[in-house]
Amino acid sequence: MSITPGTRAWVEVDLDALRANFKVVRETATPARGVLPMVKADAYGVGLACAVRALEPLAPWGYGVATLDEGERVRELGVERPVVVFSPVAPGYERDGVRLGLTPVLSGPEDVRRWAAAARDAGASLDFHVEVDTGMGRVGCVWNDAADWGAAIAAECGGGVRWAGVFTHFHSADEPDGGAAATTEQRRRFQAALDALPVPRSELLVHAANSAAALRWPDTGMDLVRPGIFLYGGSVTGAPAPRPVVAVRARVGLIRDVAAGRTTGYGATHVAPAASRWGTIGLGYGDGVPRSLGNRGVLLVRGTRVPLRGRVSMDMIVVDLSGVPDAAAGDVATLIGRDGADEITLDEVAERAGTLSYEILTRLTQRLPRVEK
Ligand SMILES: *Cc1c(COP(=O)(O)O)cnc(C)c1O
Repeated sequence: MSITPGTRAWVEVDLDALRANFKVVRETATPARGVLPMVKADAYGVGLACAVRALEPLAPWGYGVATLDEGERVRELGVERPVVVFSPVAPGYERDGVRLGLTPVLSGPEDVRRWAAAARDAGASLDFHVEVDTGMGRVGCVWNDAADWGAAIAAECGGGVRWAGVFTHFHSADEPDGGAAATTEQRRRFQAALDALPVPRSELLVHAANSAAALRWPDTGMDLVRPGIFLYGGSVTGAPAPRPVVAVRARVGLIRDVAAGRTTGYGATHVAPAASRWGTIGLGYGDGVPRSLGNRGVLLVRGTRVPLRGRVSMDMIVVDLSGVPDAAAGDVATLIGRDGADEITLDEVAERAGTLSYEILTRLTQRLPRVEK
């Protein structure tokens, strides 16, 4: 896909930056076996296929996804590395996972029994990982009775069914205050579970770190690290900023001079305090622009910051171009990214919108074509 003067709005993806961010994680955390980049949710909205193709030459250990469909999309790209499915799969669908050679994350002996039966039915082998719940409370086996569930899980293995990995997930690795204490406690619980398992440590891949843990506490690297947001340009508390990966741009469609007192947007929440120039931009919540940016967002036009006026509509927003007298219809407006000397970072947009970089990225809709830079 290329950008023409008629292209309304698009997402630019810088794959060199994605690769550079991957290398930062790998070199900071130096995990023993490698990096397991998370490409779930269409690689955080960046585009699963382009992210996987960009990362393949760097030989990641494997890929992390949330669903069977996402795992299938990775396999369709010809990837033979492990693909770990981190969210629970509904009973009855194990055989699809087995057929695709995916590695499920399982939460107890019952899960292992179902998956092992599907593998044996298909005459296929199965590797699985077990999550240890050290406080996240979503999935996994609870850390403090690891001897029991560990023995029950080990009893289900054999005949091509292999317990390949064990991991936990930190809930506060990115919290500025208290994150360190919470993470220390989760590490203690995880270690207690590992110590209680009846399986030799050397037989299991052990992992814990998301982006924030891998960068803030490189000793959480263990065998694998599982970065997501940092690869895609979201910054992490206490670590140097990543290279920006995503820019969101759109055309100024129409410019009008308006008199004081004119209103814009649903609810007429903005009233021009004086004569102004308004520019209408082809971007809205139908593209993933949060409505919470209404009267709070900024964009760049010709390198100058311009404020968003009124509410965000589905397909359009209005900015005040009074400070950019030479602006013209067809100009490129930047919601996220650099334009000239100024830059609006992903994290700045997230903060203005009262949310996280993760949500800003993953809600960019398919209406915006992804263009490789
Ligand atoms: C999404 C996810 C990650 C990546 O987290 P980031 O904060 O994006 O680095 C790591 N591990 C698991 C289990 C995840 O679901």
